[in-house]
Amino acid sequence: MFKNATITSIQDVTDDLKIFTFKTDDNSDFVFSQGQFILVAIPHPDDSSKILRRAYSVASTPNSKECELFIVKPETVDNHKPLMTTLLFNSKVGDPVDISTKGAGLDMVIDPETINPETNFVMVSTGAGLSSFIGHLRGSFDVLNTAKSITLIHGCRFENEIPIPYNDEFEAFKSKYKNLKVLFAVSSPEEGSRFKKSYVTDVIQSEEFLKHTGGFQSVDSVLYICGGPKPVSSVRKLAEEINFVKHSNSKPGNIHIEKF
Ligand SMILES: Cc1cc2nc3c(=O)[nH]c(=O)nc-3n(C[C@H](O)[C@H](O)[C@H](O)COP(=O)(O)OP(=O)(O)OC[C@H]3O[C@@H](n4cnc5c(N)ncnc54)[C@H](O)[C@@H]3O)c2cc1C
Repeated sequence: MFKNATITSIQDVTDDLKIFTFKTDDNSDFVFSQGQFILVAIPHPDDSSKILRRAYSVASTPNSKECELFIVKPETVDNHKPLMTTLLFNSKVGDPVDISTKGAGLDMVIDPETINPETNFVMVSTGAGLSSFIGHLRGSFDVLNTAKSITLIHGCRFENEIPIPYNDEFEAFKSKYKNLKVLFAVSSPEEGSRFKKSYVTDVIQSEEFLKHTGGFQSVDSVLYICGGPKPVSSVRKLAEEINFVKHSNSKPGNIHIEKF
């Protein structure tokens, strides 16, 4: 069921990333499971009888009055301007949208049964995929802090795409969690950048990551991947080569995927 909501803030993070917050018009809480994506709906600009609906991962915690989403501008392909993103990018605080938290995907929701003091809990994101994991670090403390180690690996193209507003929060997460490491992969670092060119798959094979996890093995690890199709597929392939298994309802496994 969709609820009427209003945009309450828009933060320009980079040229391609904006962080939006929303409130329901009846001031009710956003009820969902941490890690779940939600659906945002707006009328089609050329035909208001048609409704555009798209999935967005949630960075805020459940049962809050405000819902926070990261919106990333996908590239124009063959002169096709991404419809919903263009509309959202041009929207203003106070604009209406409809939001549904029901019936949407649960692939990034953590099953507490799979986390124990032997578990290496690994989250890999690109682009807006980070929002699910910000949500978990904010709202899944009791479950995550039982793991042996927690690693968040985030990939972006340029150093200035590292989500600056969260730098302070990343620091706070590091003191809150007993064994959290946050690593960035920057694929096109500018000259003079403190980062060397790397992809998320390089970071998973890096000494720093292997030292933190004590070796990345399927037997004691749970891997969550969220983001664009290419990096998600590359990380999955790498993990499957070392015996990780994609999770599905019919066949439990230790790779959980949400592909945009
Ligand atoms: C589970 C899930 C979670 C998601 N979470 C987020 C999130 O947190 N943040 C976020 O920003 N996005 C997220 N997305 C993506 C988001 O839902 C939209 O899919 C995305 O924003 C694109 O929608 P759009 O209407 O802007 O583009 P569309 O107009 O639907 O186009 C999408 C892409 O399809 C191609 N395309 C479509 N039509 C044509 C055409 N005629 N010619 C050529 N190419 C075409 C283009 O590559 C285009 O970039 C998520 C997606 C999923 C499935």
